[in-house]
Amino acid sequence: MKPKSFEYHAPASVDEALAILRRYAGDARLLAGGQSLVPMMNFRLVAPAAIVDLNRIPDLATIEADGAVVRIGAMTRQRAIEFSPIAAEKLPLLRDAIRLVGHLPTRSRGTIGGSIAHADPAAELPMVLQALEGTVVVRRPQGQRRIEAADLFRDALTTSLEPDEILVEVRLPAMPAGAGYAVEEFARRHGDFAIAAIAVLLVRDGERCTKARVATAGISSHSVRLHAAEQILEGEGLSEIALAHAADKAAELVEPVSDQNASAEFRRHLTRVLTRRALIRAAASAT
Ligand code: FAD
Repeated sequence: MKPKSFEYHAPASVDEALAILRRYAGDARLLAGGQSLVPMMNFRLVAPAAIVDLNRIPDLATIEADGAVVRIGAMTRQRAIEFSPIAAEKLPLLRDAIRLVGHLPTRSRGTIGGSIAHADPAAELPMVLQALEGTVVVRRPQGQRRIEAADLFRDALTTSLEPDEILVEVRLPAMPAGAGYAVEEFARRHGDFAIAAIAVLLVRDGERCTKARVATAGISSHSVRLHAAEQILEGEGLSEIALAHAADKAAELVEPVSDQNASAEFRRHLTRVLTRRALIRAAASAT
C-alpha cells in the first residue's frame, strides 16, 4: 500500500521545524529514520497532513561524553551507536541492546530519537533508557525541557511528548566502572521484535549489591522498571537465592499482555526466566 498524500517539509534547523509543527497543530509527523513511521503510513495506520523531515538538520547526530553523562543526538543512527567507542566504553548495556534492534539495514537508518519517541512496547532502546535512568531533552516553542525516562513512556506507542515538541538529545549516565549488566531477549528470530526482554545493571560491593536496575521490553504495554525486584537485590545481595527471589518478584510485578505472539501467562513465565538469566550473567560480570 501507499500512504495518503501529504505535504513534505525539510527544514534546516530545529527552530524552523518547530514553526512548521506549530502550523499543522498536531497533524504533522517528524521523520527521522523512517523505519517505523513509513511502514505505518504505508499501512495507513497514520495519515499525517505533513511530514517534517529532520534529516537535513545538522548537529542532531552526535555522541559526546560530557563528564559522567553521555549525550547522544536524537538523529544518531542506531548503527553509529553500535560502533561508537564512547558507547562501548561508557554504555556497554546500550551497545549490547542495540545489536538486538532489527537488522543491519534498519539500524543504518533508524535513529535513537525515533525509537524512543515511537515507544514500541517491544523496543530495546526505551528499555535501556529506563535501566540506565536516562533523560531526553525536548525542544518546544516555549524553549526546552528534560523528561526522565520514568515520566516519558505512558502506554503502547504513547509518550509524554507533545505534538509540537522535538526530541533533540538523549542523555545517559555513564555506567559505573565494574558494573555488571546483561540483556536477555526472547524473540521468534534474531532481529524480530522482542516477545519479552529484560535489561539489568548491577553494582556489587563484595556479596552486597549497592545498585540494581531491572527494566522490561515486550512484556507489557510499555517499558517499565521493576523497582521491588531491584530492592530485593539491594537488600539481600547477589546470592543465588537472592537472584531467584528477585526473578520471582519480577514475574509477580509485570502486567503482561496477550497477543498473537504469546499469552500473558507465557510472558510472565518468560519474565522470571529472562530476569534470572540476566541477573546471573550481570552478577558474574560485576567486579
Ligand atoms: P521514524 O520511523 O522516522 O519515526 C518514528 C516515530 O517517532 C514517528 O512517529 C516520528 O514522528 C517520531 N519521531 C522520530 N524522531 C523524533 C524526534 N526527534 N522527536 C519526536 N518525535 C520523533 N525496533 C526495535 O526497537 N527492535 C526491533 O527489533 C526492531 N525491528 C525492526 C525490524 C524491521 C524490519 C523494521 C523496519 C524496524 C524495526 N524496528 C525495531 C524499528 C526501528 O528500530 C525504528 O528505527 C525505530 O522504531 C524508529 O526509529 P526511526 O528513526 O526510524 O523513526
